Amino acid sequence: MAEQRLWAPWRLEYVKRPKEGECIFCAALAAGDDAAGYVLHRGRRCFVMLNAFPYTSGHVMVSPLEHLATIAQLDDETLLELMTLTRRSLAAIRETYGPEGFNIGVNQGKVSGGSVEDHPTSTSCRAGAATRTSCP
Ligand SMILES: [Zn+2]
Repeated sequence: MAEQRLWAPWRLEYVKRPKEGECIFCAALAAGDDAAGYVLHRGRRCFVMLNAFPYTSGHVMVSPLEHLATIAQLDDETLLELMTLTRRSLAAIRETYGPEGFNIGVNQGKVSGGSVEDHPTSTSCRAGAATRTSCP
């Protein structure tokens, strides 16, 4: 059971639609309506956002506020806040869903599977009982 692939067909709507070249992270921040943009928290240097097309319940994305292309470009304070907010997100997901585990990854670059190739994110998905998840 733990070797099953995660299939999230509801993501096809997002995967197949044409991308407008806009950075969804910067657009959500600029829109000014955090609830509508699924922005859960704004920190000093990073923010937490729900994935509109999640692989599983609790799929959140933690990103720098600044549009930078790689993790290597983050200063130490931003990198620390990225991981601190990731830890806080895991605690919230743990309290809400009680998962057996998590998948945490960093998307950087188009081949990483992330849909935004030049705004790195740390993603956290809950892993349900006997389910193996793979997040972009
Ligand atoms: Zn951006």
